[in-house]
Amino acid sequence: MTTDLRPTNTLTIDPERLWHTLEVSAGIGPGKAGGLSRLTLSDDDKAMRDQFVTWCQDAGCTVTVDPVGNIFARREGRDPELTPVVMGSHLDTQIAGGRYDGILGVLSGLEVIRTLNDRDIRTRRPIEVVCWTNEEGVRFQPPMMGAGVFAGVHDLNWVLSQTDDAGLTFGDEVARIGYAGSVQRDAADIDAYFELHIEQGPILDAQKVPVGIVTGGFTSFGAELEIAGENAHSGPTPMAARKDALVGAALIVARLHEIGWGYAPEGRATCARLDVSPNRYGIIADQATVVIDVRHPDPDLADEMFQKALHALPDVAERSGTDVSKVKDWSFGDVAFDAGLIDLIQSTARDLDVAHIPILSAAGHDAYHLSRIAPTAMIFTPCVDGITHNENEDIELASTVPGVNVLLHAVLRRANA
Ligand SMILES: [Zn+2]
Repeated sequence: MTTDLRPTNTLTIDPERLWHTLEVSAGIGPGKAGGLSRLTLSDDDKAMRDQFVTWCQDAGCTVTVDPVGNIFARREGRDPELTPVVMGSHLDTQIAGGRYDGILGVLSGLEVIRTLNDRDIRTRRPIEVVCWTNEEGVRFQPPMMGAGVFAGVHDLNWVLSQTDDAGLTFGDEVARIGYAGSVQRDAADIDAYFELHIEQGPILDAQKVPVGIVTGGFTSFGAELEIAGENAHSGPTPMAARKDALVGAALIVARLHEIGWGYAPEGRATCARLDVSPNRYGIIADQATVVIDVRHPDPDLADEMFQKALHALPDVAERSGTDVSKVKDWSFGDVAFDAGLIDLIQSTARDLDVAHIPILSAAGHDAYHLSRIAPTAMIFTPCVDGITHNENEDIELASTVPGVNVLLHAVLRRANA
């Protein structure tokens, strides 16, 4: 044991400071109902990023930004030649999002660094906190873009060329808010990646267990489908002559719903978005876009669900008189988190006397991409009733602090190993 390691029972984060930090974040980009609407690369995202950078610099960290806007705050170790232990998540939110999804992970990382500063603890390895860009995928798809570029899953220039609903490109927007950085990080330059996140499900809250150790994720497939029809009058146009894009989209929505039920309860199928044009009374729609999303804990079954959805498309096209094409697709979640890090988190929780259970993640996380390039693990903490992607998302400080302390000690052990 090195002299830097204090007895574990005396080292704990400062819960009030963490809560205050979360409250400051909750004031930046507020939604309509008490949550947040802080879309990626928006002015509010910039304000939050600026605040985060200030906090990190005040904590003595060196801050760098890469070309996709990922922010890295580094606390130097005794041996700066060693690769860092990294913690992170995201500060962007859903359009009607909560105060904690992603945010808790980033700000817990900051709290870990502040706690080490309080005790003047130097670690052998450097420690970093990262804010990944556009985890949510609300403004630009796919989700988890920043982590995806970092891990080599997405091409940087492709990501920079993606557009939002207003036609603005990711590249122009990340530059506009001042976060098109120039530091190119080497993906191999990470010793380990830890992500703390609210569970976004009901299990921990229902069981009154403060820590879930994530063993893997649901496999997810998503796609953006375009349905091309033809404008016509709602009255004179016979049914047989119609090329109705809205009907095509509706058939896809209904089919996805059936597929989801066919694989319930584990399987999930969603059409979260439908855009239709011109979307006016009296005129048949000539254009529609549907975003589909299927998820299952068994990767083969997730793939089967996705293939069923795709195989339904020719029939949809025929019945609606339209052309249906897939313009974009993605997948994530078929990951194995690192057995060594899972063990480390387990033994840390045990030593701290924190109750914990193994758990699967049904949501997407930046950690999925990181797991391709570095030993990666996730710690889940409870959220009230599992409510998330909802402005009523809530957590209790008392049931959150144990998880953050597990993060602190696991990172400390890894950084001093
Ligand atoms: Zn999240």
